[in-house]
Amino acid sequence: MLRSWAALRNLIFYLKMPEGLAERLYFEQARDFSRIIIAISLLGLSTIGLLFLEFRANAQALLHDAVMLTVALCYCALIGRARRWLLHRAPTGADAHLYIKNMIRLIALLGVLWSVLLILLLRHENGDQVALLYGIMVGCLATPVMVSPLSCAIAYWLPISVGIVLALILARDLEVLTLLDLTSFIALTGFCILFLNQRLNERVIGTIRLEENAELIKLLLRDFEESSSDWLWETNAEMKLQRVSPRLAEVARSPAATLSGRFPEALLGEAAACVGHPGSPIERLRQVIEERAPFRDLVVPVQIQGEERYWSLTGKPILDKSGRFAGYHGIGSDITGQRRQQEQIAFLARHDSLTKLPNRLMFDEVLHRACEKSAESGVALLCLDLDQFKLINDTHGHATGDAVLVAVAERLNGCLRERDVAARLGGDEFAIIVMSDDVAEIGAVAGRIVERVSSPYQFEGQSVRIGASIGISRAPQDGDNASALLKTADLALYRAKADGRGAWRFYDPEMDEILQERRALRSALALALPRHEFELKYQPIVNLADRHILGAEVLLRWHHPERGVLGPDQFIAIAEESGFVGPIGEWVLQQACLEAARWPEHISFAVNLSPRQFRDAGLVENILAALRHAGVSPQRLELEITETTMLETSALTMAALWELHGQGVRIALDDFGTGYSSLSYLQRFPFDKIKIDRSFIRDLGDEKDDSSIVLAIIGLAERMNMIVTAEGVETGEQAMLLTSYGCAQAQGHLFHRALSPEKFAEVVAADLRIDDWSDCSSPDPATLS
Ligand code: C2E
Ligand code: CA
Ligand code: CA
Repeated sequence: MLRSWAALRNLIFYLKMPEGLAERLYFEQARDFSRIIIAISLLGLSTIGLLFLEFRANAQALLHDAVMLTVALCYCALIGRARRWLLHRAPTGADAHLYIKNMIRLIALLGVLWSVLLILLLRHENGDQVALLYGIMVGCLATPVMVSPLSCAIAYWLPISVGIVLALILARDLEVLTLLDLTSFIALTGFCILFLNQRLNERVIGTIRLEENAELIKLLLRDFEESSSDWLWETNAEMKLQRVSPRLAEVARSPAATLSGRFPEALLGEAAACVGHPGSPIERLRQVIEERAPFRDLVVPVQIQGEERYWSLTGKPILDKSGRFAGYHGIGSDITGQRRQQEQIAFLARHDSLTKLPNRLMFDEVLHRACEKSAESGVALLCLDLDQFKLINDTHGHATGDAVLVAVAERLNGCLRERDVAARLGGDEFAIIVMSDDVAEIGAVAGRIVERVSSPYQFEGQSVRIGASIGISRAPQDGDNASALLKTADLALYRAKADGRGAWRFYDPEMDEILQERRALRSALALALPRHEFELKYQPIVNLADRHILGAEVLLRWHHPERGVLGPDQFIAIAEESGFVGPIGEWVLQQACLEAARWPEHISFAVNLSPRQFRDAGLVENILAALRHAGVSPQRLELEITETTMLETSALTMAALWELHGQGVRIALDDFGTGYSSLSYLQRFPFDKIKIDRSFIRDLGDEKDDSSIVLAIIGLAERMNMIVTAEGVETGEQAMLLTSYGCAQAQGHLFHRALSPEKFAEVVAADLRIDDWSDCSSPDPATLS
């Protein structure tokens, strides 16, 4: 009982409601209440008027009139207050609360006055007036059912109910049945008041909440647009843009007013206005809109003031209450930056960052596709290698090296037709796919490339030259897949380089045979050391001034089980490629040291080192150990390195050279003049000796001789405190000229060929002065034996 009273109290006085809600509720109800109360009051006034006329002649009429007048005044007060409230400009929730409170008092007074009036009238009715009074009672009871808020309804219903019961009890003739009937009606109206008011309150509260939510959503959306790069869009059923937000107008770079056209054309500009190809993003967007389907993160290109940008659009159809399409709403964002970044990442993944040419990944794909179509159209693969590129890096620096690569890439592109593709495979390796089966045409492209790439480059006032060699293979003749084509083009490139730099060669199956031969040689080479098939020969080096032997160059020979004696030129390159040169070189050194230990102390020996040997971190230790083991002083050893070694120099190579030099081992620069002859090498390391290549010596004394070069080298060496040895001296004239030029040492067939250790020991022991400088230029097979 107590609990239901508490619930009723809560319901009547809006207790236990969240803060502000009761006031909001009063506020919402005040307007409707005012309108209804005016209507009720007008009806009440007319009823009072009716009663006045009816009961005018009755006893106690004065008292009745007084009460009726008070009731009428109450109605007038209610009308007055309600009108004032309706005319109130900006009422607040608190005002509403106060207004309702005042109205409750007035209504309660009205209820009490009506009760008094009914009691009085029922006691003095004249018999015919009973029906009218019962009717008024029912009317009075039914009135609060129409009133909300509940407090007002109860304020009227309660006194009127009590009054009616009292009036019936105090009536002249107590009609028990009527009393019972009206009491049930009182209960029914009481229930209806509670029930309907509760329902009404729920509705109003629901509306308030909805409004609050809508307000909140509006705030959140505004906040969303202001704080993010995204924007909202909305259309009506005709797909015309609605409520264009400032943010949307900003990204579309046009005033909001001009964006009221049809979606998507009005928004996306020319890109959407024209008909896209089927499957294009614009067409997909049009299709989903036509199907009234939702879409998510659809990326579409947009033309904004001539600039192409990308928008990501998400949209959802809106349906009205009857389920009819009412438009679209959604969000959009400008993802141009993101998209450009993605495009750049995709580009970088498939292109070389320096030259912007396709990289190996993309090249492989293109070649693969070209091979698939090669049966119909023919494809040629050109593998290009830059000659002496390392030298550019070494002499001009890496920045120039990079600039050369970029320039080469540009020139390559300039030599190609649109359907051909040039790629950088790495380092100074390039590849070109030429879509043609015409040998003459392919050859012309290759020739053009070699010519263009080889013409000088100008960088910061410096002229840089570089050569190019090209190997060409064709599909399907030389291989019908990418890897076969690459292999055959590589063989052709190998051949092009061997034939002299700046050449281009088509693949020939013969090259395969050479490759087979190299493979066989390689297998045999793997067994040569354990099978003791190597032998060392010693070519005496002569002091030109007194013609005595100073030392020897150690030269390697291989007694091949089937092919007889092979010179280093026939197998050293293979040994280098296959990694055998390390152990072979070590054997040469140990063997030479042991041999030198038998010679007189003043006889030195020169050992050739291949560039690959410098990759061995134990090289210095091995050399010193070999010397120690044989008991030979490091001062007697000379190491001959070529310019290739210097080209491939690494910190490791330089450290090894300095270490050996520090130990007293002399270092000679071999084959000087044949390679890149970069003077920077001479500055980078203090060589003890320069060996002039025999190609310069060969023509000495001829009409078109190289004496000026030889003279220059000798002069340079003298200034840099280096000894010069001339190689391949075959004639007395050459020896005489060299002597007159001031060349200190020489070796060559004129003096001695490469000798067996026994023979060399013999020659040294005899210590013969070589006086007979007769020519010995005729080829002598004994060179290799
Ligand atoms: P290189 O260092 O220039 O050696 C001199 C080459 O010229 C030797 O050829 C020698 O036999 C040849 N020669 C000497 N005098 C004359 C001459 O008057 N006329 C002619 N036509 N030729 C002459 P070889 O022995 O065939 O050696 C070729 C190259 O092999 C050497 O060139 C050297 O770079 C390399 N080599 C030789 N032995 C070794 C070695 O043990 N290890 C390494 N890594 N390379 C070696
Ligand atoms: Ca040499
Ligand atoms: Ca040499």
